[in-house]
Amino acid sequence: MTDPRDLFRRYLGQQIELRQPGYILPLPLTAPAEAAGAAVAAASQPLNRSAAQPPIPDRGLVIPPPSQDLFAADPLGGKAMPEIERLIHACTRCTLHAARKHAVPGEGPLDAKLVVVGEGPGATEDETGRPFVGRAGELLTDILAAMGCPRETVYICNVVKCRPPENRKPMADEMEACLPYLHRQLAIIGPRVILAMGATAAEALLNTKASLTALRNKVHDFRGIPLIVTYHPAALLRNPHWKRPTWDDVRIARRLLDR
Ligand code: URA
Repeated sequence: MTDPRDLFRRYLGQQIELRQPGYILPLPLTAPAEAAGAAVAAASQPLNRSAAQPPIPDRGLVIPPPSQDLFAADPLGGKAMPEIERLIHACTRCTLHAARKHAVPGEGPLDAKLVVVGEGPGATEDETGRPFVGRAGELLTDILAAMGCPRETVYICNVVKCRPPENRKPMADEMEACLPYLHRQLAIIGPRVILAMGATAAEALLNTKASLTALRNKVHDFRGIPLIVTYHPAALLRNPHWKRPTWDDVRIARRLLDR
């Protein structure tokens, strides 16, 4: 598809599917104008969830629940969310605590059906103590809305709870130190689906170095909970071509929620 009008139509369609606000239609548009008008009209329609449901993909990696003995030895085992949050705010288990303004435990209802896991707080999250509130967070909010899961119904958290310097990927020892908090959060909430956004979330939860490409389009099993891997919203801001596959992934998550 090299005709720029086809490309533009396809781009508009993707923007609309992801409910991207603010697309500007340069006027006058000749041939694509009708398509653009129809596309804008379509954007104001409610999401038709029954249309073209994606197939449920094959089973992927399986992370079994820990043995009873391991639970008994888990120092966070049995702790409720307020206590987990208190421990995170006071945490000095890795060097990331030294430069933080705020630790960012996560937020959302404890009976959420969907948990989103990102990588770690960025600058805005460090300032505010809230997850996904910067530009990537705005896009995540739009994606969740397009899925029919308003942000306030979803529990949103990260692998590491303190901001890595310059937003670098967290180191293995930082992830290892922080992971028990995430594991406990997931055990407390017991969601129906986990959405791992980006390679770091997938790596941490599935204990794998496999590429995002290899991990997408599978239903993994994290301790009995279906887990879908997709692109990180920050990656989508850098590379809008990944929005379409992300939309495919989140529609699979939606289907699993509806089961
Ligand atoms: N990126 C993340 O992975 N998490 C946030 O909370 C914000 C940006």
